[in-house]
Amino acid sequence: MSAGAGTGLDTAFFVAWLEETAGEIARNRERLTELDAAIGDADHGTNLDRGFTEVLRALQESPPDSPAQALMTAGSTLIRRVGGASGPLYGSALRQIGKALADPVTPAGFAEAFGTGVMAVERLGKAAEGDKTMIDALGPAARALSEAVRDAVETPEALARAAAAAAEGARATVPMTARKGRASYLGERSVGHEDPGAASSALIMGALAAVAARREGA
Ligand code: ADP
Ligand code: MG
Repeated sequence: MSAGAGTGLDTAFFVAWLEETAGEIARNRERLTELDAAIGDADHGTNLDRGFTEVLRALQESPPDSPAQALMTAGSTLIRRVGGASGPLYGSALRQIGKALADPVTPAGFAEAFGTGVMAVERLGKAAEGDKTMIDALGPAARALSEAVRDAVETPEALARAAAAAAEGARATVPMTARKGRASYLGERSVGHEDPGAASSALIMGALAAVAARREGA
């Protein structure tokens, strides 16, 4: 029996999350690129699709034997392979979550590690909530997850709440003025558009919830 099997947050779960994310990104590639065309340089969908395709390849070439290793491999690959700002930001988040995970992974341990991953993005991007970035989706997701875990909510439901918070956070970027990244060059003209990174963060969190729901039903 693999480590973490008791909570379901084992290596296979994290690999399944990364695979589901790659699929979601591929399916939404055009939409993410269109969002980036409005307030950036029209490459967010292609950046992430290329990055996560490489992540799948890396996971196949060196199958991870712990949740931490799965996330570290994915994070390093994104940092190396994605040219845009989002690669190093997502890559650092995944590496930080991996570093912070104990084996076996408990729901509380994952919630805490996830929070440190979001802090890594804030540090690296020198951004905070309200700046109209991926942090506007990731921050609320981290809080929803910690609260749910603290209230002893079952893992699939806790992750569903985190995903819902991320989606809500992404929608809430529409009226914001961008203060970080390329979109900040537009100033007020960035108002009225959803931030592409917040949109991809919502997809990543949706993938996490979907995998947990599927495994629960299995
Ligand atoms: P680039 O902006 O280099 O073309 P992408 O298009 O792949 O990179 O990603 C853009 C997204 O990255 C933005 O929508 C935003 O969510 C996120 N982002 C950009 N700069 C920052 C930053 N300093 N802090 C946090 N997130 C950022
Ligand atoms: Mg871009």
